[in-house]
Amino acid sequence: MCSGAGGFDVELNDRVKSKKYKCRNCGATFESVSKRPVCPTCQSESVDLV
Ligand SMILES: [Zn+2]
Repeated sequence: MCSGAGGFDVELNDRVKSKKYKCRNCGATFESVSKRPVCPTCQSESVDLV
């Protein structure tokens, strides 16, 4: 059994928490772990943390 490797992904996901942003330009909401998130819909950098 190799169940040890399976739990690693979950731990990693838990440490890197994505934040939710809302685009000021088109109003789309999305999640990003980047410090400088860019709207996936219109590529605008003008976003607000939700
Ligand atoms: Zn946008």
